[in-house]
Amino acid sequence: MTHLFNHLPTADLQALDAAHHLHPFTNGDALNKKGARIITRASGSTLTDSDGNDFLDAMAGLWCVNIGYGRDELAEAASNQMKELPFYNTFFQTSHPPVVELSEKLAQLTPGNLNHTFFSCGGSDANDTNIRLVRQYWAAKGKPEKKTIIARVNGYHGSTMGAASLGGMAAMHAQGGLPIPDITHIAQPFWWGEGGDQNPEEFGLERARALEVEIDRLGEGNIAAFIAEPVQGAGAVIVPPSTYWPEIQRICDEREILLIADEVICGFGRTGNWFGSETFGIRPDVITIAKGLSSGYAPIGGSVVSDEIAAVLNSDDFNHGYTYSGHPVSCAVALENLRILEEEGIVERVKTETAPYLAEKWRGLADHPLVGEARICGMMAALELSPDKSSRAKFASDPGTVGTICRDFCFENKLVMRHVRDSMIISPPLVITKSELDQVIDRAAKALDQTMAKLKADGLMTAA
Ligand SMILES: *Cc1c(COP(=O)(O)O)cnc(C)c1O
Repeated sequence: MTHLFNHLPTADLQALDAAHHLHPFTNGDALNKKGARIITRASGSTLTDSDGNDFLDAMAGLWCVNIGYGRDELAEAASNQMKELPFYNTFFQTSHPPVVELSEKLAQLTPGNLNHTFFSCGGSDANDTNIRLVRQYWAAKGKPEKKTIIARVNGYHGSTMGAASLGGMAAMHAQGGLPIPDITHIAQPFWWGEGGDQNPEEFGLERARALEVEIDRLGEGNIAAFIAEPVQGAGAVIVPPSTYWPEIQRICDEREILLIADEVICGFGRTGNWFGSETFGIRPDVITIAKGLSSGYAPIGGSVVSDEIAAVLNSDDFNHGYTYSGHPVSCAVALENLRILEEEGIVERVKTETAPYLAEKWRGLADHPLVGEARICGMMAALELSPDKSSRAKFASDPGTVGTICRDFCFENKLVMRHVRDSMIISPPLVITKSELDQVIDRAAKALDQTMAKLKADGLMTAA
């Protein structure tokens, strides 16, 4: 295979990166001291860096490369579309074939009566669309005071002002004057961390009923919607207890509020069904999509809404849109990605073969003395590291100290696994093979051993 260009030596790239590139979610000074890892190419589930090292990418990039790297069909779809029609907008009573075909395909794939898509460039701006869209829906129905959106602590919905306000990440709210008004947060269904003496089922019910309590506190007449991820991804793959979603659905059915499922990670096969809403029996009015929609090959996202919401929205102008809403190249790439997911039976294979295979091995890691809980849903999973699992104890060190140590050992072992605080998480490409999953488990187990040895040597095996 020929490569696009011969890149500069690693040290030069790192120096220029440090001099001119501001990285997302990064302490620049700390990064620039050691230099960024430069990834130059990838194939299947494997990344290659600028020094020729291969890594198993157990994160699918940022939870998005569902069909794996290196699929020429997507490159050809992009190239053909660029030659035919590289750009045209969808604002002024115009449309184009890729956006029409993708809208129809999404209506087919998404559950229930979700049949209408408003396109964005990613998940954050799709959630900003959702804020305006659900408020406009109620205003058009003569209820403009219904504008508060209830979200969750430790949820993640993106990084724009609106999306980060919907999110419940304390470190994000601490910067830039967030959250914006009329957004509130209820507690999350995180049993390992917050379940106390309750069993997971009792705890799941209680955390779901927090929604009812919040609706009553604020007044149902003031609430537009509740937004949540079926499984919290960036929050550390928090799989809710089995009682949680049925109770949330009951509350949403009884009350006059909309339910927004943020499917940016869970969508397109991640949980073993096309959408997380199907895995958990959720009937949302709106879903947010991005990431796996194009497997990350081109930026695209969207808000898919019900027939009822579309009918109300269509009754008036909706004064909202992005230059790149329904970008033809991104739509063509997404269509080709969906064709491959469907025709190669990738979602089905996750459900019946690879996810059950991974689940058995992943749960085996809970026998490691450092692992308190091993949770998994489809192709997303987490390990809670703990100095004393019998009491579900946290480490005495600053949150993230132990997670960073383990993450660094994973890299040494040529495995990309991420940490959130002191939990270790994976979300591999959906095409990962069983033998690659064996390697993920072997390398993770080795990293756990190395982490444990270092914690002991450094006196860090102490509980908070
Ligand atoms: C990544 C993510 C987003 C934000 O998507 P971007 O494409 O980064 O803007 C929103 N919601 C969830 C659940 C996500 O994981």
